[in-house]
Amino acid sequence: MFSLTGKKVWVAGHRGMVGSALIRRLASEACTVVTAERAQVDLISQEATHRFVADEQPQVVIIAAAKVGGIAANARYPVDFLYHNLMIQSNIMEASHKYNVQKLLFLGSSCIYPKFAPQPITEDALLTGSLEPTNEWYAIAKIAGIKLAQAYRIQHGRDFISAMPTNLYGPCDNFDLETSHVMPALIRKIHEAKQNGSPNVTVWGTGTPRREFMHVDDCADALIHVLHHYSELEHINIGTNQDIAISELAHMIADIVGFRGAIVHDHSKPDGTPRKLMSSERLRHLGWEPRVSLKQGINHTYRWYLDQSQQAPNDHDG
Ligand code: GDP
Repeated sequence: MFSLTGKKVWVAGHRGMVGSALIRRLASEACTVVTAERAQVDLISQEATHRFVADEQPQVVIIAAAKVGGIAANARYPVDFLYHNLMIQSNIMEASHKYNVQKLLFLGSSCIYPKFAPQPITEDALLTGSLEPTNEWYAIAKIAGIKLAQAYRIQHGRDFISAMPTNLYGPCDNFDLETSHVMPALIRKIHEAKQNGSPNVTVWGTGTPRREFMHVDDCADALIHVLHHYSELEHINIGTNQDIAISELAHMIADIVGFRGAIVHDHSKPDGTPRKLMSSERLRHLGWEPRVSLKQGINHTYRWYLDQSQQAPNDHDG
């Protein structure tokens, strides 16, 4: 077991959805958390990243900083998804090696797997087939990150590990309709339809694709568990082992929001991968189980959205 007690932990990307959940979760560990503000430390810059690590000397680093986004954002900002993510993760890993970080956790997501990977997707499905073209920019950067963490482990004996969470949702998610993932998009659209008294809400695609959703507080808890208990070359999946059809999700959100109108489908919008359910058996074997049900999680996220809706939408760049 790796102990966090007395350690200095740098959460890179602390303003993003996962990073801020990690900060909340780390408050109950006996460690010191350090963060870098984007205005002061540009993680795309090798020099700025190395200077920060040299000054702070963290013993533990979690890479939750990334350009993330949904199906539309990947199509519009391919350079940001590929170049920014490659730079951020490479700069942080090399600096962590140079300044003797004891443990590093690199985060990606389930988009790294082949489009038609057998379901539920186990860790060894990586690089066994073609990627989903709508998010290959992000996926290729993240696959390079997994390989880089492995390379530091093999060549330099570094305790660098990678975890791949499923689709996450919760407080601090991106609710911008053009760039968000489906969960925040539907919460917002359905809420606004109720407010405006609209007779219907439009859901992109056929509604038949299936996705797995995990509340970000469950994810943060699982990640700290993994930091404590996992030290292997291969990455580890972080999920709930359950999926749901997009149309069923839309109805569940409508129930929670109290929207009584119709749900209609826009077939001109892409469906993306038909199904994306990961196998999180490896995580289960480490003794971790999810606690937040989908209904509880959506309720919690909807309440957060209502509280925040007076403010500007959160920047989705973690
Ligand atoms: P993906 O998991 O990488 O495909 O990304 P998304 O979360 O953006 O999309 C998941 C699925 O939800 C896709 O089939 C989308 O077409 C569908 N979807 C339905 N309505 C929406 C919406 O309003 N926004 C987004 N982003 N996806 C939607």
